[in-house]
Amino acid sequence: MARRPDRRKRNEHSEVHGKVHGTAYGTTHETERGTIIKEWTGRVPVCVTYPNTYFIGMSNLAVHLLYKTINALPGVVCERVFFEEAKLGSGREPGPRSIESRKPLDAFELIFITISFEMDYINAANLLSLAHLGPLARERKEGDPLVVGGGICVMANPEPLAGFFDLFIMGDIEATIPAFIETYVAHHEKGRDELIEELSKPEWVYNPGHLSVSYGQDGTVAGFEPASSRVRIERYRGKHLSTSAIMTEQTEFSNMFLVEGTRGCPSRCPFCLTGAIGPFVYDRLPSIDDSVQDVGIIGGGVSFHPALVDLIKELKARGIRPHLPSLRMDEVPLEVIELVSEEVKTLTFGIEAAAERLRRSIGKPLTDEDIYERIEAIMAIKSFHLKLYFMIGLYGERMEDVEKIVEMAKHIMHLMIRQGAKRGTVGSITVHASPFVPKAATPFQWLPMDDVSSLKEKLAVLKRGLGKAANTYFTHESVKYSFLQGVLARGDRRVQDVILSLAGGVGLAKVQRESPINLNFYVTRERGADERFPWDFITGEKEKARLQKQLNTVLAQLSSSKQ
Ligand code: SF4
Repeated sequence: MARRPDRRKRNEHSEVHGKVHGTAYGTTHETERGTIIKEWTGRVPVCVTYPNTYFIGMSNLAVHLLYKTINALPGVVCERVFFEEAKLGSGREPGPRSIESRKPLDAFELIFITISFEMDYINAANLLSLAHLGPLARERKEGDPLVVGGGICVMANPEPLAGFFDLFIMGDIEATIPAFIETYVAHHEKGRDELIEELSKPEWVYNPGHLSVSYGQDGTVAGFEPASSRVRIERYRGKHLSTSAIMTEQTEFSNMFLVEGTRGCPSRCPFCLTGAIGPFVYDRLPSIDDSVQDVGIIGGGVSFHPALVDLIKELKARGIRPHLPSLRMDEVPLEVIELVSEEVKTLTFGIEAAAERLRRSIGKPLTDEDIYERIEAIMAIKSFHLKLYFMIGLYGERMEDVEKIVEMAKHIMHLMIRQGAKRGTVGSITVHASPFVPKAATPFQWLPMDDVSSLKEKLAVLKRGLGKAANTYFTHESVKYSFLQGVLARGDRRVQDVILSLAGGVGLAKVQRESPINLNFYVTRERGADERFPWDFITGEKEKARLQKQLNTVLAQLSSSKQ
């Protein structure tokens, strides 16, 4: 399962960040191992920017890979800036500053902003404003840094951010960044416009200034100019995936060496971007230093890694403790769970829906019996704690399907007690519910998101039902933020003003009231089969037809199944 760091952790961390580590002005590299410090003289300064906290950013392997890849190139110095440093930098050193040399963001020539979550669009705009750079590309002047975007959200639909970025890189870091930086270094003395044109040449660079979009009376996209515009996503075809470049305690994985075990996912569940955006590739063990004690294997499709058992055995034989991400219950071998049982206290599974018919519709065709048998087998190994992810608001969901989440959690606890009683320990269950947010570039891109009042009602049912359940905790994503995520995930260029208002501190309710566009247009509207989407010039006709076919199969199954 591809899972984002827990939002609660994100928020908790934001509140305590300044006290936990670093100085009054934010995190410093002194708490890190592996920081690369280079002289600036004679080198082009490049900044890798993550528009969220240090904690969240350093938990993301893309930041490590960009940092390592760029610093390995001749003629450049690469440093990092995080969003929270910007907020903390309002005192003696105002504005966002780099971790390595405390240089302000606008001192860099080239700024890469890597975006993994839609909600970070607002932070990205805010970060640019705090750096006294125009948040919009058209406001930036000769001599200002070039602002370049990338990341999984951008590859699916960059259009809400089109006005903020000079360029987007559409592809894997390994396959694009070295060539892009090489071109930059060779031409950086040129004027801004000429340099942008030079960098726009590869098919995997998207220059939003090269594309005009027109809208019809009904508000949908009427056409692109030039009509033949296409952007190709460039894939890395090498053997090894990424690993941690820097070790620090201040991440979700605290001093754990991270290896990207898999990229993409062969399951291609129709709601999930991880499976939709690229091919499935996996890595065996990259070289790991003998000083490493804990290794976190990262990747949405880790449960499908064909050599996962051997990989964990190799780590254990070297005295290294392995850690796993959220798993797919029907795919991960039981032997894997046995092997990690000493190190791991909590197992995380994305069950997603309690009704079999809904699970089938989202590509997880497990029966209830499959789930219960599997839980019993797992609990026979050890009394683990469980974290179970569910979605609410799936297409075709009924209220009894939500109530079934409560029943399922209670039944799982019953099984845990039955197994645990034999050894006198019983783990807990945390049920985490997230509203289903349809994503661009997936088969569910045509589907409406459930409306806010219905989602709130469903959460209330879960809160009531799970509130008194033994040894069971309930957490959930905010409905308000999920709605906003829905706007940003399938938005077009007109959403730019929404991002600007939110970045300027205006609340979502006020933005909704005052925006000339009805935000429900992007969220709760069912799209027509022939509708042209803002991101179609990336998806391409052939792939769009494939996505539609997959959706039609799902819808046909849903309408024929009762359970
Ligand atoms: S495609 Fe399915 S199994 Fe794979 S990461 Fe996404 S949700 Fe998990």
